[in-house]
Amino acid sequence: MTRCDVGHDGDVPEGDTIFRAAAQLRAALVGKHLTELEVRRDTRGRRGPEPGTEITAVDAAGKHLLMRFADGHVLHTHMQMTGAWHVYGAGQRWRRPGHTARVVVRVDDGTTAVCFAAPIVELRRDGDGRDRPSRASRMLERLGPDLCESDVDLDAVIGRLASLEPDTELAAALLDQRVAAGIGNVFKSEICWAERVSPFTPIVDLDEPTRRRIYETARFQLTSNLATGRRTTFANGLAVYRKAGRRCPRCGATIMSRRDRATRSTYWCPRCQPEPRPAN
Ligand SMILES: [Zn+2]
Repeated sequence: MTRCDVGHDGDVPEGDTIFRAAAQLRAALVGKHLTELEVRRDTRGRRGPEPGTEITAVDAAGKHLLMRFADGHVLHTHMQMTGAWHVYGAGQRWRRPGHTARVVVRVDDGTTAVCFAAPIVELRRDGDGRDRPSRASRMLERLGPDLCESDVDLDAVIGRLASLEPDTELAAALLDQRVAAGIGNVFKSEICWAERVSPFTPIVDLDEPTRRRIYETARFQLTSNLATGRRTTFANGLAVYRKAGRRCPRCGATIMSRRDRATRSTYWCPRCQPEPRPAN
């Protein structure tokens, strides 16, 4: 019985979740032949691959998931905050309401993959140059190197970081998928804690070695969690994420949290990660 949850409930999906989910979808679908593809509310109004078409690949890039078909069609979904892919065996009950399904993929062994609530769903054909680039493909082009890949180009990441506004706070920079793909809300807080840097530090105050160390830690944390499915950054758990009011495992100070629109909820230790100097 296959079942996977690319999602998350209520948080930004992290790149490791999508990367792992892509692996599960790949195992369930690649090499199988389509019996039905239902794309609901596809604004581009395309005809999809015909029944019988083979699914040839499932790839993840940051929070984008690309399903490729033998006839050149590509189904592109972006999970943003709400989306999730589930895989169900024949006859298995869906765990989310049917009306929230955006894509239903059925293959010849009875497996069904359902994408729920993804804000971006696009079906296109590779090499079809007649269209203006779609929203999803423009997002994908701007995407930074994927921190889940073992050979990620950290020089490129550091270069992209330098292109942000100097007063961008580190927390926002870490979530910015144009710098590097893969960091969501959980790792954002955990990486800052691991590096003893306040998430509110303007990036202009971080020197080059610190920037590099932060993204090396990001890569380490994301790739360390790929195999297990359990998200662990510190002593078999998380250090600060969703631990407001508890003690910092390093120094014992009380963990704080703050919520805002741009960076979502952020957790940190005020003693290990002192606030940056106030602006004059
Ligand atoms: Zn601390």
